[in-house]
Amino acid sequence: MKRRTGQDRSITQKWKPATQAIRGGTVRSEFGETSEALFLTSGYAYDCAGDAADRFSGEQVGMTYSRLQNPTVQMLEERIALLEGAEACRSMATGMAAMTAALLCQLEAGDHLVGGRAAFGSCRWLTDTLLPKFGIETTIIDARDTQAFEDAIRPNTKVFFFETPANPTMDVVDLEAVCGIARKHGITSVVDNAFATPVLQRPLEYGADVVAYSATKMMDGQGRVLAGAVAGTAEFINNVLLPFTRNTGPTLSPFNAWVVLKGLETLDLRIRRQSENSLRVGRFLETRVPRILHPGLPSHPQHNLAMKQMEACGPIFVFEVEGGRKQAHALLDALGLIDISNNIGDSRSLMTHPSSTTHYGVSEEKRLEMGVTEGMIRINVGLEDPDDLIADLDQALRAVGL
Ligand SMILES: *Cc1c(COP(=O)(O)O)cnc(C)c1O
Repeated sequence: MKRRTGQDRSITQKWKPATQAIRGGTVRSEFGETSEALFLTSGYAYDCAGDAADRFSGEQVGMTYSRLQNPTVQMLEERIALLEGAEACRSMATGMAAMTAALLCQLEAGDHLVGGRAAFGSCRWLTDTLLPKFGIETTIIDARDTQAFEDAIRPNTKVFFFETPANPTMDVVDLEAVCGIARKHGITSVVDNAFATPVLQRPLEYGADVVAYSATKMMDGQGRVLAGAVAGTAEFINNVLLPFTRNTGPTLSPFNAWVVLKGLETLDLRIRRQSENSLRVGRFLETRVPRILHPGLPSHPQHNLAMKQMEACGPIFVFEVEGGRKQAHALLDALGLIDISNNIGDSRSLMTHPSSTTHYGVSEEKRLEMGVTEGMIRINVGLEDPDDLIADLDQALRAVGL
């Protein structure tokens, strides 16, 4: 009887995503465990000094040190690569480690980057503060405007960097058009796909070069660990990203990799149900608040584009109240079931006021330019029964006079 210890890419890449999310990348040890083994080890022992030398020179395949390789971490990387349709993937300690590595590994002083205006606060810190400090020029544009990318190109433009849907304004970027412009000009497009995950949106199929993740969000999906990942061609991952990460060390811990492996098993199920729940809650809120930006609702200005490139809307959206920060905070304070929390992608419903939390570090001027208003509230719709969520929102809205 043959025990399946490894996997053949030519077979696993033909599996449907729900199958890949459960079985992709699994490598069994000599014990034949069904659930992935957790290898809590920093080092590896060799049978002889010659083997050690051969591992370091690359003549022998095998692991040398867990900053560079770990069996549990590799299982996760292979699983994410399969889901993404990428040749290769490297996981990172956090989403921000993934974004930082994906950009710094390929940029140098004198280069230019074009970035999306609406973005996770720390991603804006990278483009606005960190990169310029090292002599990398950045231009920030409204990423909903495809032409703005083309207009911003300079002879030294190396990277387009954006997220879609974007945090927190739910701006949608036309992946096919923008990645097409990047290709035409020899520019590398780096897409932060945290909100959609590969189940709902696969940027590489639209011509993106690199996909970067916060796996903390939907991939873990239960609010337990921080993790990140970067996926792309084998050439990019092995020859551009790897020299940077193996020497700077933003490595994911095997334990966190194992938790994300377990999270991925239910990703397909969770994100589809959370998308349905999010639509139910969105339809309710649409009747009660002055403004809602929900990619799954026809009232979103880019609804058609969002639904063209995403299989479903995902769990996150924003809405606005007219009474600014005071009313937004009062609404959050009146919640009974939904938690006040700035995390997203959790199976619990969570709400936050971006301008005083996730985007606190972005100047007021930039927040307003991005569209992050004082009355804006972001919600992550979880796996609870949507009727209970709607009842909670209903009583909280009444409590603040809405
Ligand atoms: C959360 C998030 C990040 C950062 O990820 P961490 O895992 O918290 O470091 C980056 N981009 C987006 C869009 C996010 O939502």
